[in-house]
Amino acid sequence: MESDGEDAAPAPPHPCGAGHRASHSLPTSEGGRVCLSCAAALLSSAATAPSHHVAHALVSLSLALADPAFLAPLRAAHPHLLAGPLAEALAGAAARRDAALAAQACDLAADLAAAVGAPAASELVARLARVLSSGSLVKHLHTVA
Ligand SMILES: [Zn+2]
Repeated sequence: MESDGEDAAPAPPHPCGAGHRASHSLPTSEGGRVCLSCAAALLSSAATAPSHHVAHALVSLSLALADPAFLAPLRAAHPHLLAGPLAEALAGAAARRDAALAAQACDLAADLAAAVGAPAASELVARLARVLSSGSLVKHLHTVA
């Protein structure tokens, strides 16, 4: 019986189910993959997406940041990619007055800044500072107080 050399061509890197580019799909040490584009899209939709979906994305990223298999390619190739979406997640959480989600976004931002280091961390902090100074969070805090 003749086999036609199925192992000849290397398998192309697997993009995520949403068809995002394969370079955005980073491995984890447990053998899974985290798609940065999917995570970014969820964070960016924090004002409208179900908050438990956004919270889940924040938790997944937080776990992934502690994983060297994920962190190394993130730092090497995509240190800026999550800054904008995280700022939008914070703004979205503030817009819907979800203090728990806003706190979670801030925690992840601190983890991310520590993980990627300068200069990407400075950009992240600058973006979050713009969100914080834009008023919606401040207004929210005044409402609470
Ligand atoms: Zn994706």
